[in-house]
Amino acid sequence: MTHGDRRPGDGWVACGCGRRHWGLHGAAGLLLVRRDAAGRATHVVLQHRAPWSDQGGTWALPGGAREPGESAVEAALREAREETGVDAASVAVRGEHVLRHPDWTYTTVLADAVAPVHPVVADAESVEVAWVPLGAVPDRPLLPAFADAWPVLRARLDG
Ligand SMILES: [Zn+2]
Repeated sequence: MTHGDRRPGDGWVACGCGRRHWGLHGAAGLLLVRRDAAGRATHVVLQHRAPWSDQGGTWALPGGAREPGESAVEAALREAREETGVDAASVAVRGEHVLRHPDWTYTTVLADAVAPVHPVVADAESVEVAWVPLGAVPDRPLLPAFADAWPVLRARLDG
């Protein structure tokens, strides 16, 4: 989600689930993983979301609304660069996890850091961006939708 320069994918969807979601063409986020020498996932990049944002103050993945014609991978990498300065050249995409609602989708793009990545606060969306140890993720105040998805996503990291 980027404010200030409204884009064609920006807007709320009134979903058949009874809630509203950000992203007229759905939304996507990047689950960027760091691995140890044995290939085990150790850390993920989380964004501490600005207090003024929807469900602000919580931690979640960098991401936002997809633009028309934009793939989930393209959107996730674009948003991660805009929000955290992560360079797509340092990232290898491994898969996607799609959450389907009646009128909206959220795609989590799973990716490995293949070069040193030092995420930073790159726009007004975040107050902090950090590599968080996997075991510490549930200790943070998470965006509820991300908290719900985390056990499934966590299981996929070692799959
Ligand atoms: Zn919904």
